[in-house]
Amino acid sequence: MLTSADPRPAPLPPNRTQPPALLGRESAAAYRGLIADVAGRLAERFAAVDRPWTGAAPADLAPAIAAVDLDRPLASFEDAFEEVGELYLNDAVWFHHPSYLAHLNCPVALPAVAAETVLAAVNTSVDTWDQSAGGTFIEQRLIEWTAERIGLGAEADGVFTSGGTQSNLHALLLARDEAVEHLLLKHRVEEGTPLRGVEVLPRLRLFASPHSHFSVVKAARLLGLGEDAVITVPADDWFRMNPAALDAAIETCREQGLVPAAVVATAGTTDFGSVDPLGPIAEIAAAHRVWLHVDAAYGCGLLVSREHRGLLEGIEHADSVTVDYHKSFFQPVSSSALIVRDRASLRHVTHHADYLNPAEGAVPNQVDKSLQTTRRFDALKLWMTLRTLGPDAVGDMFDRVCALAGETWDWIATDPRFEVAAPPSQLSTVLFRLAGADDEVHRRAREALAASGAGMVAATRVEGRIALKLTLLNPETGLSDIVPVLEALAQHGKRVGESA
Ligand SMILES: *Cc1c(COP(=O)(O)O)cnc(C)c1O
Repeated sequence: MLTSADPRPAPLPPNRTQPPALLGRESAAAYRGLIADVAGRLAERFAAVDRPWTGAAPADLAPAIAAVDLDRPLASFEDAFEEVGELYLNDAVWFHHPSYLAHLNCPVALPAVAAETVLAAVNTSVDTWDQSAGGTFIEQRLIEWTAERIGLGAEADGVFTSGGTQSNLHALLLARDEAVEHLLLKHRVEEGTPLRGVEVLPRLRLFASPHSHFSVVKAARLLGLGEDAVITVPADDWFRMNPAALDAAIETCREQGLVPAAVVATAGTTDFGSVDPLGPIAEIAAAHRVWLHVDAAYGCGLLVSREHRGLLEGIEHADSVTVDYHKSFFQPVSSSALIVRDRASLRHVTHHADYLNPAEGAVPNQVDKSLQTTRRFDALKLWMTLRTLGPDAVGDMFDRVCALAGETWDWIATDPRFEVAAPPSQLSTVLFRLAGADDEVHRRAREALAASGAGMVAATRVEGRIALKLTLLNPETGLSDIVPVLEALAQHGKRVGESA
């Protein structure tokens, strides 16, 4: 008999038109209607967006979101969607808009967006075979395909991850554990006494250029090596690691009794799009028997480029590679992978749980190779993209934005209101300054541009001074979209400079 603690939900008020709570057999028709309805509303927005952003300040958006009473639901899904329109979509940042020129965000491949609704609805988790079935093989085929494009050979393997940050962490974890294992074995053979892993961690060193991604330093911290474990190898005037300096740095490290655990080469630095010389770096890493990780989070699109694949020459010698499909493969966030030369190295993250992936199991369980357990079937998006558009179309789109960066650099270099802040990028960034303006003017001109909604650009520092940055990842953007944004920036810069 039910008492006062009746667990049954209260009946809905009569004015409420909620869709069914869960997606299932009974609600299949409601699912179809709901998704079609949302797609219709979003399609209207995509068609109507006339600027990349409204330029809303945090203080404009925070109060309305804070005021929502999450314990008191609205009358219908329509109401909730309308509210989200107010709280989020009206002031969203639209990466597909041709005046969005700021960060490494891409417009997304349409087949991938469709696939996203599939993986959300089916809700496959690619951790074990018994939660994913064919999903496991689809992910594995894409890993094999990527490894083949890299040129890694028959023992290659890998796993999808949440992003480049996780891929880099995972790669450096494998490098760390390979180095530790080798050291412990060597010590036992040479000294005849056991050594504990934690005792050698402080001696491990990683090597990266000053322009490598900050996730490398973060990984060093998370892996118990400390930030100081990352030795900065000088770069040349094109922001690429200097191989001779790498060789010297590894030598010095050895002389000090320290242990080089990994070289991190960047194939497409976030700021400059510079690609470290992978061939020469690979030779040095091999000569010193040091793990080579290539962070191709940005430059991975070169794997399918018909014009610029040559920039990645030498990547085939890597022990591990980070690829961010959600950057230069035009995939929705998240979609990334870590690829390794030798599948055996993935054992360092394997743990067998009785309830999930017992050691005596005979089926493929992706969780054996992953830092994550429950994991999205992001691979389906790339699969649908390759099966619909094909790799050449993806590579052509990346080639187009690289060409556009060159055209834009030329335009800026010849206009006296601007000065270029770096040589032409190997990929698709453009760094420049307003001629004669200081850091403060740059900061305020950039803010004024964003607030006006006329365009969005990024900012970084080059040789200690602020520089503005365009990151071009929209193949539908042309120079005629970029020039008005630059003109507006010059205007803002002039006004800010005069009022200072
Ligand atoms: C973007 C980027 C990362 C980090 O990737 P996330 O997907 O943002 O985690 C790592 N390395 C490079 C070179 C990048 O450009």
